[in-house]
Amino acid sequence: MVKGAVIVVAAGRGHRFGGEMPKQYRMIGGQAVLRKSLAVFCAHPSIHCVRAVIHPDDTALYQCAAQGLPILPPVLGGPTRQDSVRLGLASLKEENPDFVLIHDGARPFVDFGVINRVIAEIREHQGAIPALPVTDTIKAGTAAEGKTVITHTVDRAGLWRVQTPQGFPYQEILAAHEAVKGQELTDDACVAEQAGMTVVLTKGSEDNFKITTQEDLARAELLLKGKGTDIRTATGFDVHKFCEGSFVTLCGVQVPHDKGLEGHSDADVGLHALTDALLGAIGSGDIGLHFPPSDMRWKGTDSVLFLKHAVSLVNGLGGKILNADITLICERPKIGAHRLAMCEKLADILNISASRISIKATTTEQLGFTGRKEGIAAQACVSVSF
Ligand code: MG
Repeated sequence: MVKGAVIVVAAGRGHRFGGEMPKQYRMIGGQAVLRKSLAVFCAHPSIHCVRAVIHPDDTALYQCAAQGLPILPPVLGGPTRQDSVRLGLASLKEENPDFVLIHDGARPFVDFGVINRVIAEIREHQGAIPALPVTDTIKAGTAAEGKTVITHTVDRAGLWRVQTPQGFPYQEILAAHEAVKGQELTDDACVAEQAGMTVVLTKGSEDNFKITTQEDLARAELLLKGKGTDIRTATGFDVHKFCEGSFVTLCGVQVPHDKGLEGHSDADVGLHALTDALLGAIGSGDIGLHFPPSDMRWKGTDSVLFLKHAVSLVNGLGGKILNADITLICERPKIGAHRLAMCEKLADILNISASRISIKATTTEQLGFTGRKEGIAAQACVSVSF
């Protein structure tokens, strides 16, 4: 499996922005700018670990901004952005990812499209960065008597406005950064170029702008207007086979039965279907991708952990879970007596009212594998508003 990591650089002081608080911790749409940036990468199915590089003065702000996100502990940055990136990269030696994306914490509107294009290019090249062609006419000017006077018009053909995330093979970019330590280069692609790496451009996005000025913050707020009208619905499905045992775990509740359910984790089909539905609502792959059955850490795991992970990803992206509807499909055990306990359990984990949760049960009229009492199937449907 290809392992991807992300370094989100958030150690800057934002002198151009002004004010007491660094811009990456300012709130937009009720969330810190940095939290929005981090959450997108946390939810991306090809990213395995995310780490922020922060300023030593910002640890309290950071803890608040990153609360609940599935993320590595932050590392402290250095005096320049380049120092911070190098320290961030060096901190991933143990994780040793195949590739790393380096992103500005003040670009909260990065989306899966941009990320996917960068990742696709670094499969074939030593580096890829998102960029947009320069469309405005470019002038060069010089200061004269308090005015700026045009000296000439720059040919904009072949000129690009560069964004992040910038992606590279991990070992190569780490070595490149260590080689230019102390020099001041403008971005990570520049560091890669110095090391002779071939870096390609891929299509960026107009919304992926960097919050640098107060005007940018206002533009960000404007982009978030109409929040709550983006409703996404997704489904999940799961099956587990009966085995020897005296109870089954369904929707987080132990239900006495003359059999158990076989599985790598606690085999809670209801929670697995619900977790997949939540991941589906944010395009974040499936439960097997986040918690591979090959990973011994998840053996016998309480599936509540899987569901909590999916909830944290959805909430991290600013998603509000509207409702969840689960159907358990089996001849036995009977579900009715446990329905309330299941609803209460899910209401607690999803942090929504129990009236927004539905647990239903049905049989398949003794047809098929559930009819033959070989196992239990579950399907789930959720709606999430953004
Ligand atoms: Mg399962």
